[in-house]
Amino acid sequence: MKKKVIIIGSGIAGLALSIRLKSKGYNVDVFEKNENVGGKLSDFYLDNFRHDFGPKLFTMPNLIEDIFEDAGVNIDKYFKYDKLDIACKYFWDDGHIFNAYSDSQKFIHEVHTKFNKEENMVEEYIFNSKKKFNLVKKIFLENSLHKISTYLSLDSVKAILNFLKLNIFISLNSLNKRYFKDEKLIQLFNRFATYNGSSPYLTSGIMSIIQHLEHDLGVFMPRKGISDISYSLYNLAIDLGVKFHFNSEIDSIIIKNKSAVGVSINKMNHKADIIISNMDINLTYDRLLKGYKKPFFIKNYQPSSSAVVFYWNMNKSFSNINVHNIIFSRDQKKEFDYIFNKKSIYEDPTVYICSTSKIVKEDAPTGCENWFILINSPFDSGQDWKKIKKTLRNNIIKKISSTLKVDIESNIVGEKILTPIEIEIETLSKFGSLYGSSSNSLQSAFIRHPNFSKKINNLYFCGGSVHPGGGIPLCLNSAKIVSDLIN
Ligand SMILES: Cc1cc2nc3c(=O)[nH]c(=O)nc-3n(C[C@H](O)[C@H](O)[C@H](O)COP(=O)(O)OP(=O)(O)OC[C@H]3O[C@@H](n4cnc5c(N)ncnc54)[C@H](O)[C@@H]3O)c2cc1C
Repeated sequence: MKKKVIIIGSGIAGLALSIRLKSKGYNVDVFEKNENVGGKLSDFYLDNFRHDFGPKLFTMPNLIEDIFEDAGVNIDKYFKYDKLDIACKYFWDDGHIFNAYSDSQKFIHEVHTKFNKEENMVEEYIFNSKKKFNLVKKIFLENSLHKISTYLSLDSVKAILNFLKLNIFISLNSLNKRYFKDEKLIQLFNRFATYNGSSPYLTSGIMSIIQHLEHDLGVFMPRKGISDISYSLYNLAIDLGVKFHFNSEIDSIIIKNKSAVGVSINKMNHKADIIISNMDINLTYDRLLKGYKKPFFIKNYQPSSSAVVFYWNMNKSFSNINVHNIIFSRDQKKEFDYIFNKKSIYEDPTVYICSTSKIVKEDAPTGCENWFILINSPFDSGQDWKKIKKTLRNNIIKKISSTLKVDIESNIVGEKILTPIEIEIETLSKFGSLYGSSSNSLQSAFIRHPNFSKKINNLYFCGGSVHPGGGIPLCLNSAKIVSDLIN
């Protein structure tokens, strides 16, 4: 008889895993507390503007293609995407503007034009970023770090022999200062620490591999908006026969004789041979595994940063911004000091603006734009978010208006604001952190929770709060790792 699998949560990792296991012949049921799939990678409408709830940046589409290919299904019927020419447009308050191209040669040429004399170092940086990525991907990103077999492969031996070249034991900021003289370039390359919710002054230089993803492999956008990644995987899962149960929040995982044997919801038990939690790992222990000790490193972890997000319906289109835009803070050091030490938001934060309607025309009425403004923030530790968001709103309206040289306030005709509190409630992510634990230590890659339980048989974990980490690509990798662990 086919084995039965229950997946708790339909975030991007849960969805990908449901397809992988169904394709391997398992009976798969997914229980989701919300009324729709996707978790952080979902969307909503504010009047007639469509807004993506969370992620905006999409790299490594090959990981989505692999899921379709492994399921033996042609992706074209479900999911289409395009490469963006400009990955991100950067603004500084002295008027300096820099277009970061997806293509590495165009990117390097733009550095030559805008940051005289630094292009050779950028070229070397991107080249080394690719080398590091290829060394670490098999051992850190595509396999369980907690199985001996991972360390016995040729790829692992290569990675171990080149360990010092991976820049693990130097901070991202120190690494960037070794390469560049121009403060603006350092600021730009430092910003990638936020991709795993960390500070460039604390996270490891290994984070420099993101350069290869963004300015070598490139940045992409699904034709129907980024949440279409979730919806297309959901459609494939349904077609393959995965069963979804919405508005179904699991209360506990049932354990018998040290094995997971089912889940419980509203006092009803559902039996299964294998249980997988796509829920935040901390909350999985707190709520679903009561009485089971959290591993030491989970108990004492530092959550990743969170965000305050402004979803704005704009009644005008803005020709001077691109799809992805960053307006930098005047003082990056202070900004991160506020987030990680003062646990607040600096008065002049870096502002990220995304307008998907620039290319997904249906996302906003003609002549209008859907703006997503993200400000990195500390995780929730009891701050007065009402006060913070009011001050922040005033500060960023001033900052954006002065950069774009137009008073934007009167153009905002619809608004929703998200603080870490709502992120925690809507996606059940402890303290509202975006990426589970932070990577604010040089060894953090090694101390994420494994993808399986060492104490309870048949219990596995996928998603942004476990190995290999947060963000769409790593969540998809976690699904692949769990699928490979289950025979
Ligand atoms: C504002 C924001 C911006 C981001 N920007 C980016 C970006 O640009 N690029 C990028 O790659 N990443 C980004 N991220 C991070 C990325 O969204 C996440 O790492 C990723 O989507 C997490 O996926 P996941 O599989 O861990 O599941 P999640 O999205 O965390 O979903 C978990 C699901 O499980 C459900 N669930 C939880 N507990 C239960 C339970 N007990 N019973 C049933 N269901 C349950 C939840 O309702 C949810 O649907 C961003 C995140 C946010 C919030």
